[in-house]
Amino acid sequence: MNHDTHVCIIGAGLSGLALANGLRAKGCAVTLLEARDRPGGRVLSQDGFDLGPSWIWPHNRRMLALLDQLGLRSFAQYTQGRLVFEDATGAIRRDLDFATMGGALRVGGGLAQVTGALADKLGDALRLSCPVQQISEDAHGVTVTLRNQSLRASQVVLALPPRLAAGLGLTMPDIPTWMAGQAKLVATYPTPFWRAQGFNGDAISHLGPLAEIHDASPVDGREGALFGFARPGAARAEGFRDAAIAQLARLFGPEAAQPTRVMLKDWSTDSATATPADLVPPAGHPHYRPIAPTRRVIFAGTEAAPQDGGFLEGALCAADAALGALERILHPI
Ligand SMILES: Cc1cc2nc3c(=O)[nH]c(=O)nc-3n(C[C@H](O)[C@H](O)[C@H](O)COP(=O)(O)OP(=O)(O)OC[C@H]3O[C@@H](n4cnc5c(N)ncnc54)[C@H](O)[C@@H]3O)c2cc1C
Repeated sequence: MNHDTHVCIIGAGLSGLALANGLRAKGCAVTLLEARDRPGGRVLSQDGFDLGPSWIWPHNRRMLALLDQLGLRSFAQYTQGRLVFEDATGAIRRDLDFATMGGALRVGGGLAQVTGALADKLGDALRLSCPVQQISEDAHGVTVTLRNQSLRASQVVLALPPRLAAGLGLTMPDIPTWMAGQAKLVATYPTPFWRAQGFNGDAISHLGPLAEIHDASPVDGREGALFGFARPGAARAEGFRDAAIAQLARLFGPEAAQPTRVMLKDWSTDSATATPADLVPPAGHPHYRPIAPTRRVIFAGTEAAPQDGGFLEGALCAADAALGALERILHPI
């Protein structure tokens, strides 16, 4: 039976993008369908500032190899100086000489440099603004239903959060989507003024509305930036931005009250990442593991990773595992 494409991957986050590139390198015809009008999924950078993930770690060997392959550079998260701690009553300590993200690495220009470079290599194989509505498998292939058309594939890879895959007509285990309930605010400043005052930009607050704050300045320090994760649900409250900036000023001084830009991404209200079940974040890091495939539908995406599930490294690990599975199924590709 003729198929429109050999392999159809659904979801152009890091995992789907890496897998599509891996398959094409082996000469396999691939179509990568993405709901949003941009590639990257949870990887999102605006003006070079990360509104999704920021960090990789030295043990993330797949991510570091990918950066090398793409000619991109990492640099160390800024950690020199003291942390600010605010308790639930609003009492503030500024004498704590440690940093919470020591050893973490960032990517110059933001992590979307990585997903953008992977997307650029795919040409017409990547189709944006194509939300998949349903998939149905039969003995000869899989029908993938889009808004105004459908296509047939011999194999489908779901490279999207399992909770979203459940909406495509599949019976799925309920697996939380990592960080989907989070919101991130970035405030930029003419300089990273807190550094000169002996602070590393880290803050922990039990009062909020930001729970955890870090330095997000560009590598050359030409501009300053702080980012904060909102307390669960706080970003959906009216007046959140103003309250967050007022908090930055409370913690880092009056200069923090005058940001040059404020960027906010509330992932919990983005239906291409989160479902209503994600409004309540999991208590800890879930134990992610591979999801059992059917004959023609297999899983990638970080929530299906054999290792490092939830993280960027897991998205690549899941792509590698899916590539191996497809090589076995389609051999010779
Ligand atoms: C705020 C935040 C901070 C984070 N911080 C870090 C960090 O510092 N370090 C780290 O390692 N990880 C971090 N993570 C996690 C990291 O972002 C993820 O592990 C990784 O991006 C997941 O990639 P993925 O390709 O598996 O999934 P996704 O990026 O979610 O990609 C899935 C894709 O599927 C698409 N899609 C959804 N539904 C459909 C449909 N019906 N049809 C077609 N396409 C569809 C989506 O639009 C998306 O592009 C963070 C995440 C968030 C949100």
